[in-house]
Amino acid sequence: MEPVLQVKDLKTSFLTSSGEVQAVRGVSFSVNKGESVGIVGESGSGKSVTSLSVMQLLTGTGKIVGGSVKLNGRELVGIGTKEMRSIRGKEVAMIFQDPMTSLNPLLPVGEQVSEMLWAHEKDLSRADREARVAELFRMVRIPEAEKRLKSYPHEFSGGMRQRVMIAMALACKPDLLIADEPTTALDVSIQDQILKLMRSIQREIGMSIMFITHDLGVVAELCNRVIVMYGGLIMEQADILDLFEHPCHPYTMGLLASIPDINQDKQKRLQPIMGSPPDMIHPPKGCPFSPRCPYACRVCLEELPPIYTAGEGHVSRCWLLDADAPAADNPLSYAKGGKRG
Ligand code: SF4
Repeated sequence: MEPVLQVKDLKTSFLTSSGEVQAVRGVSFSVNKGESVGIVGESGSGKSVTSLSVMQLLTGTGKIVGGSVKLNGRELVGIGTKEMRSIRGKEVAMIFQDPMTSLNPLLPVGEQVSEMLWAHEKDLSRADREARVAELFRMVRIPEAEKRLKSYPHEFSGGMRQRVMIAMALACKPDLLIADEPTTALDVSIQDQILKLMRSIQREIGMSIMFITHDLGVVAELCNRVIVMYGGLIMEQADILDLFEHPCHPYTMGLLASIPDINQDKQKRLQPIMGSPPDMIHPPKGCPFSPRCPYACRVCLEELPPIYTAGEGHVSRCWLLDADAPAADNPLSYAKGGKRG
């Protein structure tokens, strides 16, 4: 079956007075029907720019400079603004980190969701739209749904506002929902409620989800598959369990070591990843993680590693997987000799 989303060798840049910021440098992945894929990485890894490129929502000097993005088989790169507007909301929808800045403070929330329906289903009467919005509010568990249609965003808590945004995104039953750090601005207990809600809605309506986050722990709650990005490239991609049990990239290992664990020995400190992300105007010639990687060797500094297959559906861009990589202190000895992808 054709994937809902197929991204091939996507390259996105921003032109600045200091030079070309190569935010995404050739990313390929797909999202299948009903699947939830997490894209994880630090700020500047290229994960949000990837999602904005898919949505054709790049602002300022942002531009897709290469590659292909296909949604339900249709090419989106180079598509007209009008055509994209008819796709956005209906086939692919997005929710952002801060619902307060995404909602219009001057319009009742019910009306804002109703506008989304009106944009794509013009034959619906006003009463039908209102009934659909109330139904959506019930689906996202907003208490007293009918009454809250007339409330303004400021009358809702952060968690409730995010539920309104989810209702808006689901209004036209999109095939793909892109959620960019939707729980980051919320406190932990509300975050948990929103994740559970997204999981149950996904099961209910069978849509695909692309979940963008810096937090691998959040991905574990919701996703079947994970893509780890760094320096505008995919560093590792695997099934969620496989990634947690057999990480094959030192950056992924670093991310895993920095997740707090309630059962962990209190004396044991969390391990931060030292250093900072690369300068994307002048990305390193070799592996972008090499300045921070404890296993970096000469080849890492000089040549970008290819993608190796480390197992079924598991790929990693790291020289340690090469059959000829030095054995001494190689943390991946068990997985060495992966095939070049
Ligand atoms: Fe570290 Fe080299 Fe692997 Fe990059 S290629 S992650 S520098 S070991």
